[in-house]
Formats: sequence, structure tokens, C-alpha cells
Amino acid sequence: MSTLSSATKSSIPVSTLGVPRIGLRRELKAALEQFWSGKINQAALLEIAAQLRAASWKRQHELGVTIIPSNDFSLYDHVLDTSVMVGAIPAIYGWAGGPVSLETYFAMARGSQTDVGEHGACGHGDHHHGHGVPAQEMTKWFDTNYHYMVPEFSRDQKFSLASTKVIDEYREAKALGYQTRPVLVGPVTFLKLGKEASEGFDRLSLLPKLLPVYVEVLKQLAAEGAEWVQLDEPCLALDCDAATVAALKTVYSEFALKVPGIKIMLATYFGGLGENVNLVARLPVAGVHLDLVRGKQQLSTASQAMPADVVLSLGVIDGRNIWRTDLSKLLNEIEPLVESREPDRLQLAPSCSMLHVPIDLNQEADLDPDLKSWLSFSVQKMVELTTLSHALSLGRDSVSEVLRVSDAIAKKRASSPKIHNPAVKRRAENISPEVARRNSPFAQRRRLQGDVLDLPAFPTTTIGSFPQTEEVRKARAAHVKGALDDASYNAFLRRETEAAVRWQEDIGIDVLVHGEFERNDMVQYFGEQLSGYAFTKHGWVQSYGSRYVRPPIIFGDVSRPKPMTVEWSSYAQSLTKRPMKGMLTGPVTMLQWSFVRDDLSRDQVCRQIAFALRDEVVDLEKSGIGVIQVDEPALREGLPLRKADWKAYLDWAVECFRISAGGVTDQTQIHTHMCYAEFNDIIDAIGAMDADVISIETSRSKMELLDAFVNYKYPNEIGPGVYDIHSPRVPDVSEMTALIDKARRNLSPDQIWINPDCGLKTRKWPEVKAALSNMVEAAKLARSLQ
Ligand code: GLN
Ligand code: ZN
Repeated sequence: MSTLSSATKSSIPVSTLGVPRIGLRRELKAALEQFWSGKINQAALLEIAAQLRAASWKRQHELGVTIIPSNDFSLYDHVLDTSVMVGAIPAIYGWAGGPVSLETYFAMARGSQTDVGEHGACGHGDHHHGHGVPAQEMTKWFDTNYHYMVPEFSRDQKFSLASTKVIDEYREAKALGYQTRPVLVGPVTFLKLGKEASEGFDRLSLLPKLLPVYVEVLKQLAAEGAEWVQLDEPCLALDCDAATVAALKTVYSEFALKVPGIKIMLATYFGGLGENVNLVARLPVAGVHLDLVRGKQQLSTASQAMPADVVLSLGVIDGRNIWRTDLSKLLNEIEPLVESREPDRLQLAPSCSMLHVPIDLNQEADLDPDLKSWLSFSVQKMVELTTLSHALSLGRDSVSEVLRVSDAIAKKRASSPKIHNPAVKRRAENISPEVARRNSPFAQRRRLQGDVLDLPAFPTTTIGSFPQTEEVRKARAAHVKGALDDASYNAFLRRETEAAVRWQEDIGIDVLVHGEFERNDMVQYFGEQLSGYAFTKHGWVQSYGSRYVRPPIIFGDVSRPKPMTVEWSSYAQSLTKRPMKGMLTGPVTMLQWSFVRDDLSRDQVCRQIAFALRDEVVDLEKSGIGVIQVDEPALREGLPLRKADWKAYLDWAVECFRISAGGVTDQTQIHTHMCYAEFNDIIDAIGAMDADVISIETSRSKMELLDAFVNYKYPNEIGPGVYDIHSPRVPDVSEMTALIDKARRNLSPDQIWINPDCGLKTRKWPEVKAALSNMVEAAKLARSLQ
């Protein structure tokens, strides 16, 4: 860490809070997969991990970062690392004390069967069924697309220092010549992110038992020579109840008392502190990191609230998005603040760890040069930070050339015709109420649709995708490479589609799907056909463990140059007399799983996508498709961190769905699909979406998730999933019948559709065929009991 010199004007230290772990070329993924498949041994895996850490420390040092983190690296997940550090290892993993083996660690991460790690069609996974030891539960890290392993605590939970990873990595860096600032998940956030293994106790009550382990870690770090430690408490960006506030006070007073020799940088991020600002200002910590991107409004209030001797880490560069910073504009905003504080009481940083952005833009050779000039990945963000530091300490003249370039790029971007399409903007800005409304209320639509579709009671359908077999993936890869020409690839896809249609007819599904064989990914497939979207080659970010994604970039106004799915859907419809369901990814999901431009509000971007999809829906209808599904699996995860912001979000999210679905006649049946575990928070919004039919995930919870719909008296039709597609298991007829019976007892029988939980792309054909045949049998049985 930079020891501040007594020079007249010392420069403001620059930190990163954390950097991507995966390696420039996804070396970590390759190493993990080789290790899991037995191709390399533990020593080789650990060696590759050490090399990645060394390379990333070196990179940060060379780019001028003065406060370099350690322990931001993880083989799988930093929350899992924390569970292991404190010995929060549930009994099923058979840990008998002592150092935690990699075998135990990966059993917690992935379950102990060799075939675990199945991924849901959503790309978020899920797994852990059948025999063997299941993995820990996984869920989203705040409102990011990173997933962590949920710590699990028992009532008689004991904690002990079970892993010295943080100390080892501190030493490792030191041996390489880097004085680092180790990073830990703070104890309060750690407990809050976990769950109780059984009812009847509150995990926050475990704090007195947990704290001694953290104290021990801090003492050991101090003894090794660490001067500062970064404790991440992003729970401070949430609504905190009194117990959480009390816990935070206890923790940080205890640390100040027990380990006075170590300075704590309390890192808050993912939003402003809001009413927690006074609490934080009173905590006895040496430094506070503020997210000044998401929490821009707290720039002056929060910094004024912090005592003068507290080091303020200014999170001014967006750690979650990929846009180049307009440096002059930012300097104008922060200069007054910087002048009001001693330089040795300031640090410059990204808003949060850069875990959420790709590593280096320089790897992108094929991006449009203008677009590329507007972007900044983690390497570029470090350069931005050091530039800011120079400008603030030595004056803007010291970096005049960099600022000139930055100004020019910002100017060009602001007026670029690649971004701005006035017609698209006008359409998304002037919305008449009719646009977001179907012509008639549901009851009326339902009658009309009933006449056209003529479906039996308990109609059966599936969610869209059929197995993406090795063969399908190979053909796609060959086509992308140019080894398979368009005509042959299309012929192949037609054969797959036709076979799927015939098979659905044979077993007696009522509303068919074409199977989505032509799609690589439910967002990418549409993004590639829309203007305003771009894709990277190497822009990977960790989604969970060894699974990485390359989120599309929404850089400009979004429009649809031509129909996207009409050809495939009408081809499939031409093969059958039964209704063929059109299949689209909804506007909120298209937004949520992308990097979104920062020069337009998210709701405006979402409206643009909604209009592009609306045109597609109308074109599908025109081409003879009478049932159209608009998937919104990401609607719930877009909920803001603070409850006060929920309504505004849900209002525009629902409006966008309704815009996309609202252009059709009453006779056309609109479906939507969502697959996650919690509907209570958003049930009003789901009602307001007014889809004619919604399919949801319910089989894993044995229909408990239906409660929200039952309590709400959901009026439209609904398909509670009866087949858990996350598992290779084939449910038999009686099992599905039991679920259907449960649904019948709670809903009106004429409301109920019968379908799986989600798309079937991750499954194998034999399982799918057996399970769906059983599903059709179960539906017939239900009809016979009418
Ligand atoms: N239609 C998509 C599919 O079946 C839906 C996937 C999802 O819900 N994530 O694959
Ligand atoms: Zn789904």
C-alpha cells in the first residue's frame, strides 16, 4: 500500500476493491473443469490459481493501482470461501474439523455426484438432485447477475477458523512484493446472506459466536503485517432493521476494541447509504467506501457526514457497467469534495468490486471502433482511476492529453447516429394508454380465444425449448465457423423442428412449440437481430462458479430491422393443424441480462425493446400464429434493493410487457413464463401484466409457490409446472397427478394448464419423451375426472 509521503501534494491512492478472477482467457474455468474431470491434480489447479493471482496483482500494480486487494480471488465463490473460513460447514459434508479439503469445498459448491452442475434453461442454475450430497443453495448476490452459495446455519452452529486462505493469500502477495489490503465479506452481511437450517432461531443471534473467528483472522493479518483490511458490508445499501443496525454497531466496536492495530475500510456498495449514513458515520472504522455511481446523490451528504479523520474511498467509476467515464465531467463533480478533505483522507475506487465487468477491452478486436472507444473494462477502469488521481493531485494539466481524448469521445458518443434513432425515441416517449392495453378485458378475450383454439380442459403445452443436443450444438458451432453453409444448417434445423412437431402431435400435446433449435441463447438470439445491441468475443463475467456469461451490450436505441422469429414459427405452424406457440424473450429479461447504456434511463431502454417486440408479436399474429409466449424469467430479479423503489420499477416493467403484448387482437392468446421461487412480492404486478396464460415453476416446492396466486385470486389462466426440468429424473403419472390435484383444489379447474417448470433445453430426449408422455397421461386423467 502506498505509504503517503510528506511531499507537499501527495497523490490520492487508487484502489480496486476486487478484480475479476477468471483470467484473461478464462483460465480458471479451464483449470476447474480439468480438475473436476480428473485431468489435472490439485497441485496443478492451485498452481494455476496462484498464477492468476500473481498476474492480476502485477497488472494492477503496473496500471498504477496503489491499494491492491488480496483474497478477492476465489476458486468458486467468495461467500462460500467465507463459510469455509468460519467453519460454517453443514454436517452433510462430513467435515470433521481441521483444514477444509478441496473435496469438501467443491462438494459444498457443486454437490458430490460426478454429474451435478446442471444448468437451468434460464442460465441460472440449478442442480443438486438425486443421490449423493447436494450442493449448497445458490442465489443472486444482491441485484447483480453473480450467484453465491447461500451459507447455512444450524441452531447450535459452532464457528472456528477452518481456512487460512485470506492469510495465505496476503502472504503470497507479500512474498511477491505487494502489500495488499485483504478483502473479507463483513460478518453482518455474511449472516444476513445466509439462512437458518431449521426454524425457531434467528441467524443474527449467532453473531457473538461468529465474531471471535473474525477477530482471530484480523489479529493474524495484523501479525503478518497487514495495515488495512477491507470489510465488505453491502447490506448497508439495503433497508436495515433495528437488529441489523445493532449487529453492525457490535461488530465494528468489537473490532476497534480487540484489534486496534488494524485499520478497517468498511466497503458499502450497490447503492447509497440512505438513512444508514449516520450509523456508518459513527462506527469506529478508519475508512468508509461509498458507492458514488449508484449512490450519486450521497456525494455531498455522506461525505460531509463522515468524520474528518475517516478515510473516504470514493467509488466514482462504475464497477458494474462497461462504459468509459467522462473524466472531465466527473472531475467537475468531485473536485469540490476533494478540496474539502485532506488528500491522505481520500482514496479513489470503482463503485464496487470489478468482479462484474470483463477484464480487458483490448482483447476485443472485432468491435465497432466507435463503440469500442465508448467502453471500459476493468483494465481501462484502473487507468481512469489513476488519471483521476493525477488530475486531482497534480492538476488537470498533468493529464491534459488524456482529458482531451476523453472529452472528444464523450462528445462523439453523445451525438452519434449509431446510438440515436429519433423515430425510436419518439415512439418510446409518447405512449398513449391504448398501446399498453389489450382491446377487451380477459373474460371477453377468453371466450373468443376458446372459440378459435378449441382446446380441451387442462390443456398441455411446454415452455419452448427442446433438448439442445450435442448434434444441435455442433451444427451451430460449425455454422458459426463457416464450416456448415446456411442452406445445410437450415435444412438441419428444419429436420429437428419437424421431428419435434411430429413427436408432440404423436404424444398428444395440445399447444405445440417449435423447439428453439435455432437459438443459441434466449437473449443473444434476439439481441443479434436488433439494432442497438452489440456482442463481445471475450467479455466474460462470472455468473456462478465456473459458469461465465458474455452479457450483450445495449449501446444504442433499440429497433427491429426485420422480423426475427416469424420464419421459424410459421414454418413450424405449417407442419401441423394444432396451435403452434410463438416464442419471444420479454423486454425486461432482454434488459436485465445485458449491460445497459448509461445515457438513457433503464425504463426508456426497456420501452424501446418493448416496441421492437410488439412489432414481432403483431407480425407473428399476421403470419397465422394464434398463441404467443413472451418470457419474463428475469422480471423478479430486476426488483430494486430498496422497497421504496419497487413500485416505480414494477410499474414500468409491467407497462413494457403490456406494450410488447398489447398489439394483437383479442383472439390471440398471450402467454408468459416465469421460473423462480418467490411470487408474493410481485403478484400484483403479475396480475397487472394481464397475460392470458402464465406458466410458473412450482414442482420443486410441491405447488407451494402457487399460494401467492391463490391468495391473490389470480383470475387468468395458469400453468403451474408439474415436471421439474432441473433434474434428469422422470416423474411418473401419479406424481404429476398429485400435483395437478393440489392445483385443482386451489384454483378453478378451467384455469389450469399442464406444463413443465421451464424450457427443456438442458435435458436429454429420452428423459423428455418419457416425462412429457407421462404429463399428457396425467392431463387425460385429470380430464376424465372432470
Ligand atoms: N422459452 C425459454 C425456453 O424454453 C424459456 C427459458 C426460461 O424461462 N429461462 O428455453
Ligand atoms: Zn423458465
